[in-house]
Amino acid sequence: MNRSQPYDAIIVGGGLTGLGAAYRLGRGNKRVLLLERSQSLGGLASCYAFDKFSIERYYHHAFFDDEALFQTIRELGLEDEVTSCPASTGYLVDGKIYGLDTPVDLLRFRPLGIWGIIRLGLLVLKIKSIRDEEAYDEVPLKPWVIKHAGERVYETFFAPLLRAKFGRLAEEISAAWFIARIKLRSNRGVKGEKLVYMRSSFQRLHDALAREVNKMVEVRCGVEVEGIELEEGRVSGVRVGEELEQASAVISTVAPRILRGLVPGASQEFLEGLHRVAYQGTICMTLALRKSLTSIYWLNIGDKEIPFGLLLEHNNLYDNPAYGHRLVYLASYVQDSGEPLWQLTDKELLERYVDGLGKLFGVTGADVEWWRVSRTLYSAPLYRTGFLRDRLPVKSMVPGLYTAGMFNSYPERSINDSLRLGFEAANLVMGKEEAE
Ligand SMILES: Cc1cc2nc3c(=O)[nH]c(=O)nc-3n(C[C@H](O)[C@H](O)[C@H](O)COP(=O)(O)OP(=O)(O)OC[C@H]3O[C@@H](n4cnc5c(N)ncnc54)[C@H](O)[C@@H]3O)c2cc1C
Repeated sequence: MNRSQPYDAIIVGGGLTGLGAAYRLGRGNKRVLLLERSQSLGGLASCYAFDKFSIERYYHHAFFDDEALFQTIRELGLEDEVTSCPASTGYLVDGKIYGLDTPVDLLRFRPLGIWGIIRLGLLVLKIKSIRDEEAYDEVPLKPWVIKHAGERVYETFFAPLLRAKFGRLAEEISAAWFIARIKLRSNRGVKGEKLVYMRSSFQRLHDALAREVNKMVEVRCGVEVEGIELEEGRVSGVRVGEELEQASAVISTVAPRILRGLVPGASQEFLEGLHRVAYQGTICMTLALRKSLTSIYWLNIGDKEIPFGLLLEHNNLYDNPAYGHRLVYLASYVQDSGEPLWQLTDKELLERYVDGLGKLFGVTGADVEWWRVSRTLYSAPLYRTGFLRDRLPVKSMVPGLYTAGMFNSYPERSINDSLRLGFEAANLVMGKEEAE
């Protein structure tokens, strides 16, 4: 039992939400302990480190309107690291790649036919005119799209994208999420968007943030929180092995279903709320190839026979000479660990993925210089019907417990949102109701 002076806050998880919260609380002179299960900080946005460069384990870019991210970049003096990259997005259907960057690209999407293109355009206009998209939270996406744009538009254009992203749960996704997502994407410029990357990868952000945080708060990596202690219904600290670390506030940044296992003594209502927030998983392979595949950064794969739903050629976003190769991400979303793809070993996965690349681009094993696989069952919240109704407030119903993380993000989880939510949780702990 640890009888030292209680912390003002303990943060569970050292991803960007946890780092953001620690940074703000540290600057507010609070006594803080940050506990991270893995050996290093950064969570899902962390990187593989090579001699000459780092690269994200999961593909990452940001946007110029990412306020919390840019505020942090300025505060850490990292402005020179920011680079602007033209977005290039495509959709591979029946062996042909179609651009998806501008309205003109959509007019060229032949599989829809002229009438389908008109209906797709009208659907986008309708979506842009919707003011209260949250009213569609309980409305399933598929019948809504079919009602407004017809079966052909749904089946030809949206169904393969949704299947690649949500697998067998595609039909549970809400129209509200779809509307919010289309509005966001189509508001990012008629000439196509500019994306943000950091020249030395987002590792530079974690390193700088971690350096600052380490100066101000106590950080322990390789330490798994096994329980959050409650006394008379209020948070009193966390349990790590035999040790109890006391605190008047705990900020949990872990997936709600993980948190559920940490607070078995909380009210049934709270535990049920945590259970309702579902996640999906991602398998993401990074390959260093000896040849380029396309001129596109982000390619959606609309072909059921191909085992990955996304192909990202990172050099088409940012081409660092130190890479030495074409860095390609192949990603598949999974809904649970029972899925056949998740069951494959990394070696088997490589064979399946290279076979898919062979069918599309004639790639063979000899084109692969090196490869890495990252997997997580907690890669994104599942935006199904009722998501907005069930969204967790940062200040939870358990006194002293704050829940911040990508499960609060909508309609996209992001580095920016994780930082923003970390700041918001810190502000609430410090008694400031408004996020800065
Ligand atoms: C495939 C993929 C692509 C993405 N692409 C982009 C992108 O292009 N742009 C963008 O802005 N964002 C992107 N994101 C999202 C971004 O990575 C996340 O929003 C952000 O990193 C989440 O940070 P977090 O701190 O909320 O969660 P996490 O990074 O998941 O951090 C939670 C931390 O808690 C730790 N933990 C769990 N349980 C315990 C425990 N019991 N005790 C202690 N620690 C524990 C975990 O180890 C982890 O480090 C992407 C994410 C993925 C998966």
